[in-house]
Amino acid sequence: MRLLLIEDEKELADALSAALGKQGIVTDHTMSLADACELTRQNTYDAILLDRRLPDGEGLTFIPKLRRAGVETPIIVLTARNEPIERIEGLDGGADDYLGKPFLIEELMARLRAVLRRPVNLVEPQITVGRIVIDPLHLNVTIDSTPLELPRRELLVLLALAKRKDKTVLRSTLEAAVYNYEEEIQSNALDAHISRLRKRLLDASAGVTVHAIRGVGYLLKEE
Ligand code: CA
Repeated sequence: MRLLLIEDEKELADALSAALGKQGIVTDHTMSLADACELTRQNTYDAILLDRRLPDGEGLTFIPKLRRAGVETPIIVLTARNEPIERIEGLDGGADDYLGKPFLIEELMARLRAVLRRPVNLVEPQITVGRIVIDPLHLNVTIDSTPLELPRRELLVLLALAKRKDKTVLRSTLEAAVYNYEEEIQSNALDAHISRLRKRLLDASAGVTVHAIRGVGYLLKEE
């Protein structure tokens, strides 16, 4: 899962990105609406976390702009402006949800799951491939109901491949699923994650194999 966080309080943004990272979520962070516009043009996000008081304007003005551009990504407003009238402004202004600061990361996670469950967002509750069952909202993997522990990046690669089972997934798509735009990506890092993931899948008799499509990407197949 990849999120865009638009937040000008650096400390809060860093803490939030780290906490989301622990939940297996990749976060791109920006402090301005101008950069957010650019990032939403370049990337596809599962959800957007939006502050209201930003250096280049009121966060809520971003929502109609994004919708006019055809982007339907769910938006959760995270703000200190938490009076009832302000929450009404936010929801009527097109936000999918509204959460006042300070908040617990657990509540944000629950609200994220709630917006991602809505039919328009079409996140499947479970993806089954081979003997593996992946829960994309809670980011866990089981084989015959036994949890399969995977390091975060391998799990994200597996999820990206499983969503498009039997189809070649481009290297760039896999990298986008695993790294945020500020992270330096070593040229062979993805291949290293895949090679460890392959071994783990084999050891667990997962009933799936990852095939390399030279120079293009990877593909997940049931055995
Ligand atoms: Ca702010």
